[in-house]
Amino acid sequence: MDNEKLAELLFPDVTSVPDDMEKRYPPRTLPEGAKVTRFAPSPTGFMHLGNLYGALTDERLAHQSGGVFYLRIEDTDGKRTVENGVDLIIRALGQFDLKFDEGAASDGDNGAYGPYRQSERKEIYQTYAKQLVRDGKAYPCFCTEQELADIRAEQESEKLTPGYYGKWAVWRDAPEEKVLKALEENKPFVLRFRSEGSPENKVKFTDMIKGDIEVTENDIDHVLLKSDGIPTYHFAHAVDDHLMRTTHVVRDESWLSTLPFHIQLFRALGFRMPKYLHTAQVLKNDGGGKRKLSKRKDPEAALAFYHEKGYPSAAVKEYLMTLLNSNYEEWRTANPGVPLESFPFSAKKMSVSGCLFSFEKLDDISRSTIAAMSASEVFDGVCRWAEEYDPEFAATLKNDRSYAESILSVGRGGNKPRKDITVWSGVKQYMGFFYDRYFSVTDPLPEGHDKSDVHAVLDGFLLSYDPADDQQQWFEKIKAVGERNGYCPNMKEYRSSPEGWKGSVADVSSFLRLAVTGRLASPDLYAVMEILGKDRVEKRIKDFKESL
Ligand code: GLU
Repeated sequence: MDNEKLAELLFPDVTSVPDDMEKRYPPRTLPEGAKVTRFAPSPTGFMHLGNLYGALTDERLAHQSGGVFYLRIEDTDGKRTVENGVDLIIRALGQFDLKFDEGAASDGDNGAYGPYRQSERKEIYQTYAKQLVRDGKAYPCFCTEQELADIRAEQESEKLTPGYYGKWAVWRDAPEEKVLKALEENKPFVLRFRSEGSPENKVKFTDMIKGDIEVTENDIDHVLLKSDGIPTYHFAHAVDDHLMRTTHVVRDESWLSTLPFHIQLFRALGFRMPKYLHTAQVLKNDGGGKRKLSKRKDPEAALAFYHEKGYPSAAVKEYLMTLLNSNYEEWRTANPGVPLESFPFSAKKMSVSGCLFSFEKLDDISRSTIAAMSASEVFDGVCRWAEEYDPEFAATLKNDRSYAESILSVGRGGNKPRKDITVWSGVKQYMGFFYDRYFSVTDPLPEGHDKSDVHAVLDGFLLSYDPADDQQQWFEKIKAVGERNGYCPNMKEYRSSPEGWKGSVADVSSFLRLAVTGRLASPDLYAVMEILGKDRVEKRIKDFKESL
């Protein structure tokens, strides 16, 4: 049938032509080498760690080159779309300081290349769809679900590649009367691409991460528009990335399998192809092997997990950088304290085959990140987390900011700050004993000590304790009290001849630590006592004695 006529029959309401769109969305005027990237999630309410991995790549490529990083919402699947999905995406990435220059925003759209939500771009897709029909590169297919299922079943039984191709592409060259009749009967149809490819042919392609690859040509007449006129991912990808003038498409490597189709589609539409970066997946060790982080099985696959646990965003981002570029850690060691944006990010240094997620490494980075913060920054970080997840703790902290900051200052600063805190959710456990309402003795008394000895040591300490003592005087007194009660004041001496002693000054310190902090491990005990103050120190020691 005459293609022009078919195009009019299929899209009678579409009056615009591709040229109109080209004029509406002209090439961007950007400096030479500036990259235009996009983050293009479906607004399902779920953000995967892999999403952040990709978004960070997009953001770095764009902003490092003086380009544009924009947000496009792929909401063509209404069933998967959640109401505040866009807000959730913007908020989740905002936590990592990833800001879009244009695109979908909480209160509409921002930028000259919109609409940035695919659900609002129907007219644009249909304009190009109509043109493809005019050019004889697309055709309607009226197969019902049942007919397609029958085709699939037959292909399966004959052990053939499944899909709509060759003799199975029953509407590809359907006679005019048949098409007209189906249209007259108002039968629903999808629009299919007329593939000229053959599985016998290979196409060469260069991916910026994977390098030179060879892919088999596509011979399947894939769907471009579904029966409701909504585009498939493939068609929307070609039209949107062309019109939004994306220069670099960063996406998960699972899209590589459909790349041969995308190559055909760009060509058929007369579009220049963007550069592609197909990113490797984030893997985890599991039972001796490695597998993809799974949304279903692994809580750490969700971006929300890190927020809930209270990993500082800076730590997660820093950790992701180590996964993204193999030379990042080396750079970081040579450039401590420098913003990560100064790192020369490169697609060439990205993992080709998959990067391994490790909690140990993340935790270590998180500890270092928090250790490098000031007490006031830590206070703000904990409070922000606690306001959301433990409001009572947040209120307790905020009730006396300077008291909380004095606690958080212990062991902070200097060349080797203590790495005591890994996540904000662990802070209550770390500093709770400074607050009477959270204090309790949770560790047991070390074995092998008579209660009477512990009593004697604690009494001795109480008698000599003077909060005006400096740390050295304080410690000398502890040693002296211990020695009077049979505990060796010198560790070296004790180690070489423990016989004749009940223990050492380390044991004496443990008794005191347990009484005052409730635990056998704590920040510097002198500093702890200083912060708690004489009355509370004495009361806790007395209470502890009574409890023995
Ligand atoms: N909406 C697609 C996804 O979330 C986007 C893939 C792409 O970036 O092109 O997987």
